[in-house]
Amino acid sequence: MRLKSDRAANIGLLVLALAGLVAGSILADLFKVLIAVVIAYAVLRLGLAMLRNLARPLPEPPDPGVLRKVKIEYRCAICGAEVRMTVAPDEDPDPPRHCQDEMDLVAPIE
Ligand SMILES: [Zn+2]
Repeated sequence: MRLKSDRAANIGLLVLALAGLVAGSILADLFKVLIAVVIAYAVLRLGLAMLRNLARPLPEPPDPGVLRKVKIEYRCAICGAEVRMTVAPDEDPDPPRHCQDEMDLVAPIE
């Protein structure tokens, strides 16, 4: 009788171990699927946001009366080009970009 109960316990342990193995692999697969879904969602959102940015039309230029006369010089720190801004929507406008970078303010000309 003792032998039989030992065998039953061994079979029980074996079944338990197999069940744990199967459950573990299923859970690991579920986890991988979950990660893949999260990454796919993030990539999709990023792509849609980029497309939306491309599709958004440029804002209309403001009325000439709203613009202010300014005299500001900017220099490109990379290639050395200089530009003078004469009209801007406000007195402290954002610097223009050159060589894909914002230009440095040289001096407001008074
Ligand atoms: Zn430049």
